Amino acid sequence: MHITQDTLALIGNTPLVRLAGPSAASGAEIFAKCEFANPGASVKDRAALFIVEDAEARGQLQPGGTIVEGTAGNTGIGLALVANAKGYRTIIVMPETQSREKMDTLRALGAELVLVPAAPYSNPGHFVHTSRRIAEETPNAIWANQFDNIANRRAHIVGTAEEIWQQMDGRVDGFTCAAGTGGTIAGVGLGLKAKDEGVRIALSDPYGAALYHYYAHGELKSEGSSVAEGIGQGRITANLEGAPIDTQYRISDQEGWEWVRRLLDEEGLCLGLSSGINVAGAVRLGRELGPGARVATILCDTGFRYLSTLHNPEWRGEKGIG
Ligand code: PMP
Repeated sequence: MHITQDTLALIGNTPLVRLAGPSAASGAEIFAKCEFANPGASVKDRAALFIVEDAEARGQLQPGGTIVEGTAGNTGIGLALVANAKGYRTIIVMPETQSREKMDTLRALGAELVLVPAAPYSNPGHFVHTSRRIAEETPNAIWANQFDNIANRRAHIVGTAEEIWQQMDGRVDGFTCAAGTGGTIAGVGLGLKAKDEGVRIALSDPYGAALYHYYAHGELKSEGSSVAEGIGQGRITANLEGAPIDTQYRISDQEGWEWVRRLLDEEGLCLGLSSGINVAGAVRLGRELGPGARVATILCDTGFRYLSTLHNPEWRGEKGIG
């Protein structure tokens, strides 16, 4: 058995699983990257490690320094575990609408948590702007800036995309996922296209995000809303610039939830809503590409992070998801 020398070496090299239900539903072969197997239980551990090591290499992060970030939660968990392993302090700014499990996990990791009311990006109180201000005011601190720091998507070019290519023996017809920062879709898209220009890259966008309309019609415009955490972007972040998106789907929370429930009931996988939205997108892409096509997607985080929300029938009832 292989022994990993430290915690940080546990990040990445996640398993790829064939999903029976989605494969049968689409007629294609649907494979999913198990990002919940990272030590912080989400895809964001990869970005956190690359952002911290990039800041170290640039000499911006000094021993004993502080990492400040605005996050829906998973990036904060990734940054806090990387910071603990390397001896830094973390300050995490988060909208108060995120799941309690994420807040409790951040506190358990020793991160200093700053909760702010949910606000539009144009509002100076938005969690991203608040985190930048705190970084500027804190001595010996860096602002991780996951949305516009392309060390984020580099983690997916050299990590996630390369792993998918190797695990699928270089036979990949399509890839899809949703976007939060856009690091995953852009990085995996660029990485897979560098292997084979013919790999079809599809964005699976939730309602309330502006990217579906942007890629379909060239204009940022949103419609409706979503309760999915960690996804739903209203602008072209630096990570999304030049993302090779060939097609786009709009996926409702209900459609995503139905896949979360089926994967739990039929395959024993407990996932969050962004994973369900990704799987719904993969089924659509599989149907589009035709029988036997090989499609990859991302299982972004664990459903154990959403026991008080998505996996709680009362909460779903309040949100109109059934
Ligand atoms: N799903 C979840 C649960 C997330 O926390 C995130 C990160 N914001 C994403 C999906 C999207 O990843 P990315 O930031 O790489 O677009």
